[in-house]
Amino acid sequence: MNIKIKRYQPFIKHSLAWIASLLLLKFLQNQPQLIEKVYAEKFYPIIALINRWLMHFFSFSIGDLLYFGGISYFIYQILLLVINYKNPAFQARKISDFLLQTLWIFYLSWGLNYFRQPLAEQLHLSQKKYTAEQLIKVTDTLIKQANSLQYQITNSDSIAVEIPYSFEHILNKTPIGYQKIASYIKVKYRVPCIKPSLFSTQISYMKVSGYLNPFTGEAQVNKLYPKVFLPSIASHEVAHQLGFAPENEANFLGYLAASHHPDLYFKYAATIDALYYFLIELKQYDSDLFKEYLKKINIGILKNYKEAQNFHKRYRFPINFSKTYDAYLKLNQQKSGIKSYNEMVSLVIAYYYRHSKSE
Ligand SMILES: [Zn+2]
Repeated sequence: MNIKIKRYQPFIKHSLAWIASLLLLKFLQNQPQLIEKVYAEKFYPIIALINRWLMHFFSFSIGDLLYFGGISYFIYQILLLVINYKNPAFQARKISDFLLQTLWIFYLSWGLNYFRQPLAEQLHLSQKKYTAEQLIKVTDTLIKQANSLQYQITNSDSIAVEIPYSFEHILNKTPIGYQKIASYIKVKYRVPCIKPSLFSTQISYMKVSGYLNPFTGEAQVNKLYPKVFLPSIASHEVAHQLGFAPENEANFLGYLAASHHPDLYFKYAATIDALYYFLIELKQYDSDLFKEYLKKINIGILKNYKEAQNFHKRYRFPINFSKTYDAYLKLNQQKSGIKSYNEMVSLVIAYYYRHSKSE
């Protein structure tokens, strides 16, 4: 009997570690104030700064190499499990140990930001559902701003905007937008670390334009994506670096930073990106009105949207990866999953109505 218990002891301990971990995470999911005060204000800024400081010495992505190494190791261990007839239980525990450790490194180095208080609360923005009238009014404003920026850049309403900067120059300029909004969001972006993804081709097929590596804190941008959108993509990833995990908040902060950037190309990228989400909302609300508003948009802007559309056509893949990401977001308290990107509309409207009169 004793020998039997001894044999199973490591498995019992291991199962208990999983149960305790999942219960603790479940508990933390419902403690936004605790997460805000302890993790987001004290612990995370230090971890993020150390990570970015270490990573900024390398011009290429260390996080991507880590992903490659980690995934290769995982596949190798799975293969060993399949061919290991002698001691599969031991091998299974080894894999499970690796997953448990990865889970905790993920949550401690960044993932707990998902359980923070909503950004709208911190910025004193209304969290009420906006009205149709508000949606139409802000859409209209964004169209006017986008048209004006497009015309200022190209001197014509029918020429698509082309950014004359190199990919690296766009990434280097991105932090300026965050300097402009630092006092408003009460966070400073120190030690910038934004890099091209080593897997740009692969992620293009996954419809991914950028991502944050939660293990190294590096912001990664898809270098194949149409250049005109890069300022907005890079600004979105910086928001994640600053500890704003939800996609609607990163979209909103990316918009805010890039639209406050002194550079016209950044302002333009921010405005047409936000306008895109507003048009999706408008289409859902009233498709006839959407068609009417589409006519108000300069041809040059529509040509830029077409560039993104063509990019996705070029990198078409039979598997839809967005479903996996949708499930991941839902597991991390993002109730609307992939649709949460679009919820930036509420934040932009709330911001507009709170600040437009005073600006
Ligand atoms: Zn994101």
